Amino acid sequence: MPQVDQQSEQSESTKVKVVSQTIPRLVVDRILKTKGILFPEGHFEYPVTYEGKVGNHLDTLFVIEPLTQSDAFVDTLVSDICLWLDKEQISFDTIFAPAQAAVQKIVRSLAKKTGASSAFLEYLPQGWFGESLVEGKISPNQNVLVFNGVTQQGRCVGMRLPEFVEKHGGKVVAAAVFAKGTAAGVKDAECRYGSKFYATISVDINVYAPKDCPICSQANSQPLIPWTQMRGAQLRDQKS
Ligand SMILES: [Zn+2]
Repeated sequence: MPQVDQQSEQSESTKVKVVSQTIPRLVVDRILKTKGILFPEGHFEYPVTYEGKVGNHLDTLFVIEPLTQSDAFVDTLVSDICLWLDKEQISFDTIFAPAQAAVQKIVRSLAKKTGASSAFLEYLPQGWFGESLVEGKISPNQNVLVFNGVTQQGRCVGMRLPEFVEKHGGKVVAAAVFAKGTAAGVKDAECRYGSKFYATISVDINVYAPKDCPICSQANSQPLIPWTQMRGAQLRDQKS
């Protein structure tokens, strides 16, 4: 079992709401207590500024990697997504997601369980999406479920992934994530999909453009931490 971080328990409860009515609460509670999954207070850069693309500043960070260290957590999540797919009678051919290793693990499990194929969009280690498919394909007239582990701002499942699918002639029929943030883009995605948008949990995350970031403008502002450093810390702990 992944390590449990007792100290962050209290702040987690104020930042996180369980949205899914069907997932066993016991398991969600265990997931949320996994070390390195939630950083409820801080100053994080996501994605990391890279080759002229400037990342946003976040006051809270949710990282999907620790969840996928446990096969039991992945199984529980995938089973819950299947309950939602059945309830909403969502029929799809392909699952489309960023090629982030932790996300791919969830998608491969969901594809196996549903008999769907999977396709992955290039994903840069800094957290940016690339422009090309790295695995699988999107065919014309295919029904596609878009998936991501975490949507901080809603743009991935609300805009970027659907645009790519539509460019290749596919049709986006639904979207799913483990954790959704609370930024305006997430509300847009909720409007776009209605009940065809699944999230297990919702996390209060304020997302700022660097120039508007209130944390930066504080007198003794906390240093900006690239999100990859937090992901890296968790993975290093696992190995030690
Ligand atoms: Zn800032």
